[in-house]
Amino acid sequence: MIELTEAISLVEAAAAPLPPRRQRLLDACGLELAEPVVSDVDSPPWDRAMMDGFAVRSDDVAAAASHALELEVVVDLAAGDVTTLEIRPGSCARIMTGAPIPAGVDAIVPVECVVDDAGAAHAGSRVRLHDAKFRPGQHVARQGAAFRAGDAVLPAGAVLGAAEIGLAAEAGATHVVARCRPRVALLSTGSELVPPDVRPAFGQTRNSNGPMLMAAVQLLNAEPIPLGIAADRPEAIRAAVAQGLAADVLLLSGGVSAGDLDLVPEILRQCGVEKIFHKVRHKPGKPVWFGVYSRAHSAPTLVFGLPGNPASSLVCFELFVRPALMILAGQPRDAWHLPRTRARLAAPAKAVADRPVYLPCRLEGPMNALVATPLPWTGSSDLRGFAGAGGYIALPAGRTTHEPGSEVDVVLRA
Ligand code: AMP
Ligand code: MG
Repeated sequence: MIELTEAISLVEAAAAPLPPRRQRLLDACGLELAEPVVSDVDSPPWDRAMMDGFAVRSDDVAAAASHALELEVVVDLAAGDVTTLEIRPGSCARIMTGAPIPAGVDAIVPVECVVDDAGAAHAGSRVRLHDAKFRPGQHVARQGAAFRAGDAVLPAGAVLGAAEIGLAAEAGATHVVARCRPRVALLSTGSELVPPDVRPAFGQTRNSNGPMLMAAVQLLNAEPIPLGIAADRPEAIRAAVAQGLAADVLLLSGGVSAGDLDLVPEILRQCGVEKIFHKVRHKPGKPVWFGVYSRAHSAPTLVFGLPGNPASSLVCFELFVRPALMILAGQPRDAWHLPRTRARLAAPAKAVADRPVYLPCRLEGPMNALVATPLPWTGSSDLRGFAGAGGYIALPAGRTTHEPGSEVDVVLRA
């Protein structure tokens, strides 16, 4: 058994950022660009009408008394329509938002400025316009006003959110070179386990760790690869482990304690996974196992054997798997772990004498005067206290009861 801080350091030392990869644009959503996105077009790509109305020559409007004038409509242009026609003095084009403005004109008079019946003013008819607020160039977005072909519209380091994805799409980037989403294979071990859609018979337990760990992986922007449930039979576990070792990370739950059917450590050894530690002095989650599967020409697979009890599994995920995934994803050190701060207890909190403990709690008040209230929690098989918790009270080993009003360390849930 090793100390918590040592175990965390060992995980951090074993993990290294995955190399960036060229990938489809949408697959990189939420990831950081490793190379800039360079546009292959101007934006706008041509002078674009930004209002429904009439494309006019400014000099015609300038010549008209108080910006009221009558023009001949020579062409109708909807978005997607183009024309080679040049608009001559005394004429105009009826135009819709999104169409390229034709040669000769330089401004749009909105359809609201038509003096009589706008509906009738199509090609072949005359239109009377009065735009008291007319400015040359109005309602036209000029070619290249936002960016030019060849511009780096997104720098390396930009994180691809919705706006960035849209911009990259406009710039013609169907693929981008971005950080990798770590691929995380997930296996639940236990002959007693049934999928969540099954009502458990006597002696059976729903596989809550599977969906929980899938969610935890997804919330960290990594890619879960569910391997389902393996019964406590060596062949079943071995086959699933062999599959899971192809991923960047393999998470197993169950089978790492001291029972007769806790087969996972021995099977991992047989599969060539080198053990880094087994058992950490903390609660819940003491039986946790960690190892590395090395390969000649690619990054190793990090293997975590999480305890089967759901609360233990979750806490071990937060303590050990989270930093590993953040490191693989290339995140900076200050993002590896959940943030820690101090809070004042609103009610007594019980520690365990021989090891540090995490207790789910409610957190209230401003960050500089946080108040932590322990939530009812019956132990490592109980997820209810963890659901809805604002964080965890982290108590050191050695004392049993922490009185209301005393200051404690708390870990904030993301
Ligand atoms: P183990 O770590 O395999 O000894 O399991 C410890 C406890 O956790 C047992 O009560 C198991 O039934 C339970 N358990 C194991 N795996 C899961 C799982 N995937 N979902 C919910 N409970 C589990
Ligand atoms: Mg088991």
